[in-house]
Amino acid sequence: MTDVVVVGGGLAGLAASRRLARHGLRVALLEKRPELGGSSAMSGGWFALCGTALQQRSGVRDSDDVFVADMVDTGGGYSDEALLRALVERQAHAIAAIDRAEAWTDELKGSAGMTVPRAHLVRIRRLMAALAADAVGAGVAIHRERGADGLVVDGSRVVGVRCGSDSLPSPAGVVLTTGGFSRSRELLDLFVPAQASAMPYGGAGNTGDGLRMAWMLGAGLADIGHVTGTYGQHADTSDDEHELLTANYLGAILINVRGERFTDESASYKRLGAEVLAQPEGMAFQVFDSVVRARSRPGVPLSDIDRIAELGHLVTAPSIPVLAAELGIPARVLEGTIERYNAAVAGARQDDHGRTGLVNGVGALTPVESAPFFAYPAVTAMTSTYGGLRVAPDTAVLRVDGSRIDGLFAAGEVVGGFHGSSYMTGTALTKALVFGVEAADAIVRG
Ligand SMILES: Cc1cc2nc3c(=O)[nH]c(=O)nc-3n(C[C@H](O)[C@H](O)[C@H](O)COP(=O)(O)OP(=O)(O)OC[C@H]3O[C@@H](n4cnc5c(N)ncnc54)[C@H](O)[C@@H]3O)c2cc1C
Repeated sequence: MTDVVVVGGGLAGLAASRRLARHGLRVALLEKRPELGGSSAMSGGWFALCGTALQQRSGVRDSDDVFVADMVDTGGGYSDEALLRALVERQAHAIAAIDRAEAWTDELKGSAGMTVPRAHLVRIRRLMAALAADAVGAGVAIHRERGADGLVVDGSRVVGVRCGSDSLPSPAGVVLTTGGFSRSRELLDLFVPAQASAMPYGGAGNTGDGLRMAWMLGAGLADIGHVTGTYGQHADTSDDEHELLTANYLGAILINVRGERFTDESASYKRLGAEVLAQPEGMAFQVFDSVVRARSRPGVPLSDIDRIAELGHLVTAPSIPVLAAELGIPARVLEGTIERYNAAVAGARQDDHGRTGLVNGVGALTPVESAPFFAYPAVTAMTSTYGGLRVAPDTAVLRVDGSRIDGLFAAGEVVGGFHGSSYMTGTALTKALVFGVEAADAIVRG
């Protein structure tokens, strides 16, 4: 017999399953793919957290209130502040899980949406392996290649999950942790057609199944029209290793195929994602010099220029005209663009696009002037879809009219309401882990 079925074996599903089993419930975890992991296992491993030992060691002054205020700002007023407060209040669950797995690194940085360094690099696969081992140790039954396709309802309460012609009873409630819909062209076309041409990425099983199942029961949606791709991936990237690079946050400029800049490169990679999709050929080169090249952080996702070079995707040239020729861009235009940018960095003129810093307006800019020169051709990838089901702070799924769907809980990327119109780096993983735990606790509270 099973008390609770958890649908989806990424970070949120593992966190929920482990916690439920630790509370003494009998848990079945369904994963439709041959392996657990989803987008979580493919991710960069950045977690947004405050009050950590690493922040303290690094002398970073941060607080719960600043964390919430930054997320509210990033979300452009669209996110649900009650959810953001709940995330910050319960981040100790994430910190404890990372502690138990001994999955911390020493990497801490400021990134999209942050006014202070709050992005912590975590060994994500080690964390997932520890959660999975713990879950199995606590008695969770993991069913791979078992996709759910519907919810069983008794009266108005969700009491089970349907898998084809079978149904699994789940009398204490069902937790949806099916991830987003980055792999569903149909849902992207429906919700965000202007983004649908982004490179499909994220977990291969992330086709919005949880959304559809809850939708059938009248679930409300949040933030869904704000879903945006992430800029910075090579067009030939495989599913085995993402190639996201944001050399722009190290000082690179973005150049379109006409040789022009078109934006403030320090903006969120989500905003840049939308802007790059609108450029000719839907791509932009990250162009930089040897000063920026030397800022590469091998092994650190988003900053590892060395890895991009190893993969053969970095263009190198001894001069700007040669670089322009390699990229198929008119040399005169590229030289003119770089001259104007360098003059703005030197303070001789206003920047054409209002850039004042490396990331989020913070960090000193350097001119593009020291040979050799480099370019990384990159597109917008739909790595994750941050809009989804409307939920209460205890993860109960809410109907369109705001009432709770009895017995139905959801956590992770299937949920909306946290990110609003944009996204702070690291909040997706923190949200998956924290609210996976919260879903379990909510079920136990009854
Ligand atoms: C390349 C990349 C880099 C990223 N980097 C970061 C980062 O550094 N920091 C950050 O915060 N976020 C990052 N993200 C986003 C983040 O990884 C995800 O938002 C988060 O991992 C989602 O966790 P989840 O548990 O909700 O979903 P997932 O980890 O995607 O798990 C969902 C699981 O549910 C399964 N599933 C789906 N439908 C069904 C069904 N019907 N039945 C059974 N199983 C089903 C899927 O196969 C999948 O295994 C990144 C994403 C990508 C793709």
